[in-house]
Amino acid sequence: MSGPIDDQGEVVRGLHTLAIEVREGRPAEVGGMGIRRVLPTKGRRTVGPWCFVDLMSPADVANPDPMEVGPHPHIGLSTVTWLFEGEALHTDSLGSEQVIRPGELNLMTAGHGIAHAELEVRPGSTDARADYVKGAQMWLAQPDATRHGPSQFSHHQDLPIVDLGYGEAQILIGELAGALSKVETDWPTVGADFQITGSVDTAVDPGFEHAVAPIDRRVKVNDVIIEPGELGLIPTGYDSLRFEVDGGSGRFMMIGGVPFPTRIQMWWNFVARNREELTQAWHDWDDRNEDRFAPVASRLERIDAPRPVWVKED
Ligand code: MN
Repeated sequence: MSGPIDDQGEVVRGLHTLAIEVREGRPAEVGGMGIRRVLPTKGRRTVGPWCFVDLMSPADVANPDPMEVGPHPHIGLSTVTWLFEGEALHTDSLGSEQVIRPGELNLMTAGHGIAHAELEVRPGSTDARADYVKGAQMWLAQPDATRHGPSQFSHHQDLPIVDLGYGEAQILIGELAGALSKVETDWPTVGADFQITGSVDTAVDPGFEHAVAPIDRRVKVNDVIIEPGELGLIPTGYDSLRFEVDGGSGRFMMIGGVPFPTRIQMWWNFVARNREELTQAWHDWDDRNEDRFAPVASRLERIDAPRPVWVKED
């Protein structure tokens, strides 16, 4: 089980309080963007297979720097890119080249190894669209069955939207309120983008754990209030959830899945199971091992991996 992890990083088994818990995200900066990192968080590495959630917006909205993330590698995870505003160009070591816009999803599965770059596309001055990128960059840990396998990239424009009465949800991955996304993942997973006014009740899978990340307004989940920048953690066992926002339309992401069965180790852009695997991935990127991380077409500079703290200098 993934489940709660104590301060020593050990999984606390059999401790299911069934309470919804709130964790504070922390600020970070990636490629010119101001980031609120809400997962991983204190005591929690995963929610279902989700192991990383960055909410991105410009560090300075009045004078935004463009998002520019040069070529960098991943292993053992799928990246899920979801924009609220703006446009970005994805290029990767498979030769993919794809512009992503709000309402569309990029799913990139690393397996044994992939590299990619992300570059904001600025619309022309006559274009009414947003002149900055706002969105969510999320990772799914891959299970042992697929994490050493081939890399893949797919782009999706036909994600279902379900009417919830006082609002709607777009289903990125999995099933919600009778609608099923065609996006395939290698672990039972759900991900949805809600925009509601007032209160809605939604059936959820009681075998899944879930988390809620408000984007622009506080959200009440059952009787627990979650503010933007926080993550609300919902344990397994709930078969429905009540979401409520006050004073206008509120947007939030809900993620979830079957609790991940394996303890993962994350370092930099890698998801693995131990330091040996992480060290090998660092060496392979540092040595420009193109069998593992093929070149990426991008005008941006390649990002060097920092030396893992546990690796001694030669
Ligand atoms: Mn990346």
